Amino acid sequence: MTIFPESFVVFQGQDCLIPPQDAYNMRFLDEPSLAASIKPEAVCWHFSQIPSDLLSPSSDHYAYSVFEFDDRKYGAIQIQDNDDILIKRPGLDEAIAFPVRELVVSYPSRFSRFMLIAKAHGQWASVSRFCGACGSLLVDAKENDEVRERLDDNAYAARFCPRCKRIFFPRMSPAVIVLVYRENSILLGHNVRFPRNRHSLIAGFVEIGETLEETAIREIREEAGIEVKKLHYVLSQPWPFPDSLMIGFIAEWASGEARPDRNEIDHIAWYGADDLPELPLRGSIARYLIDSFIAGGFSNG
Ligand SMILES: [Zn+2]
Repeated sequence: MTIFPESFVVFQGQDCLIPPQDAYNMRFLDEPSLAASIKPEAVCWHFSQIPSDLLSPSSDHYAYSVFEFDDRKYGAIQIQDNDDILIKRPGLDEAIAFPVRELVVSYPSRFSRFMLIAKAHGQWASVSRFCGACGSLLVDAKENDEVRERLDDNAYAARFCPRCKRIFFPRMSPAVIVLVYRENSILLGHNVRFPRNRHSLIAGFVEIGETLEETAIREIREEAGIEVKKLHYVLSQPWPFPDSLMIGFIAEWASGEARPDRNEIDHIAWYGADDLPELPLRGSIARYLIDSFIAGGFSNG
């Protein structure tokens, strides 16, 4: 059974396409107390505004992924930067494009959580159209009679290949991010892809067969040339740009002098609260960890 939710979130590239009457609300995002009052509906389109003739499982139509949030069902659609078919439809042509990263600055508020989940589903919808094994068009697994595996009640995003009978669950790419400290200073590096003087924490994707702790230790060793101790987990964040799950750790410097790897990182140093470089955007787990450390949130190490 294909579910057609009442509300849809539409993404184009790294933007969320917001109904024009609701874009006004977004000026509250920078105020944490006011951001809490923004509801998911502020970025949603009613299903009657979505051209259902463009949504179908066939290969030349748009795919959407269904998810539940606060007991309501939503659909997420991700369209490409250069795609203008959907957004030329009446109503949608007046959408305001708003960068998704700016919609999550209030992380971990409910609204920010909603945006990250919706973006991840939009991404999943756009990359789960065909079976990776046999190339057939995938269909919804939920309530499909041929699916023998017992699925969770809310497993709306699971896909099924009618030909080779495989099930595909939403794909995420786990990445570890570590705040490394040495007394009151934190290790910040400038990645060659970062703008200007922006510095951030050491991070990297988990490789096949690695534990999260092994990834953390390897990345710190590779990118900064140092060893750490007291490594432990702090919190995580879905980061759907395009499909990461960021797993945040904190660790204490143990030995070695920090030096950039000159491959990904071209500058790295210890920074105290009084001499910080340009930091990652608010809303990112990197910024959350940095701000928490500066505020004394990890004083017991
Ligand atoms: Zn298949």
